[in-house]
Amino acid sequence: MRSLEEIRAILVGDSAIHEEILSRAFAVRSGANGGVYLRGLIEISSYCRRQCAYCGLRAANSSARRYRLSHEEIIAAARRVKACNIGTVVLQAGEDAALSRDFIAGVVADVGALGLVVTLSLGERPYDDLACWKDAGASRYLLRFETSNNALFKNVHPHVPGLGFDRADVLAWLKELGYEVGSGFMIGLPGQTWADLAADIIKCGTAGYDMIGIGPYVAHPATPLYGVSGAGADQVPATADMTRLVLALLATEYPDVNLPSTTALATVGGGGARAYLAGLSAGANVVMPDFTPDGVRAGYDIYPGKASFISAEALVEDLNKTLATAGRPVVPGAGHSRHYLLRTGRPQQRI
Ligand code: SAH
Repeated sequence: MRSLEEIRAILVGDSAIHEEILSRAFAVRSGANGGVYLRGLIEISSYCRRQCAYCGLRAANSSARRYRLSHEEIIAAARRVKACNIGTVVLQAGEDAALSRDFIAGVVADVGALGLVVTLSLGERPYDDLACWKDAGASRYLLRFETSNNALFKNVHPHVPGLGFDRADVLAWLKELGYEVGSGFMIGLPGQTWADLAADIIKCGTAGYDMIGIGPYVAHPATPLYGVSGAGADQVPATADMTRLVLALLATEYPDVNLPSTTALATVGGGGARAYLAGLSAGANVVMPDFTPDGVRAGYDIYPGKASFISAEALVEDLNKTLATAGRPVVPGAGHSRHYLLRTGRPQQRI
């Protein structure tokens, strides 16, 4: 395990050290470890009660297009995921109170009945909701810590007045409840310094996450952070290159953890299978094509440019071809995190 100072030194180091880390990450995902798992992402609601300073879905953005999928629409999208031979569905949304405990439990049960692993990413929810959804069959939950700098976090992710818990509580509950837990952070959030970024990387190890999602911050014009330049000379750039370097550090430090090549990285890289390959060749091993129905997809506008992609089916076809040629074949199945299987005492289980 590298220390915070070592990681910081690599981050600000020269291109020779960066190339070395990238080639080590490439090696981590070679041969039998080179498989890529696909997840079918369904963005089920763009309503949100929060005021995150980076996100286009923030409640105060009156120009945001709000939608909420019905139970039937979610199941129809999940059937499309299944038809693409993908084993996992990710249901993501803003923090939308209308996604009641019972509604989500019903959706989880019906998506699970299709033979799909269910991952939820619905923001900060009470313990009893998380427990109920686990009982209903949800296996995984994604909730990024966004930044390990507490002052910056409070600034960009204001607390909901009266809410008796916070993100750290929810992340602890998820583990306690037996979820496979994904967290992560943004690269280049205004105010994020090199030391902050090194601390973000260290935190992923100390917290013991099973999956780590990272992506470049993309400025949204309808948010207060738009145009804010950040920490001056010490500001981390929100670039594809920096994201690739951080993916490579994560893959070499935590080789058992699942790492998506995220939509945000593909967005700054122009989209399509090639843009995802930029992350996969730097240590990522998961891609999450977006199966949100065409009619509403543009409404899930967390950052600009995201919605302009080709259909999920076309992307999956492109990924199947392009990744096989690149020696990183798409592999079917649940695609559990080895980190999760090890920590829950099931090292022999098929990933
Ligand atoms: N409401 C859920 C899902 C949020 S969207 C939750 O809070 O967990 C998923 C992720 O997108 C966020 O966790 C955040 O890291 C990322 N994101 C949001 N706005 C972004 C932006 N402007 N640029 C890059 N990533 C962003």
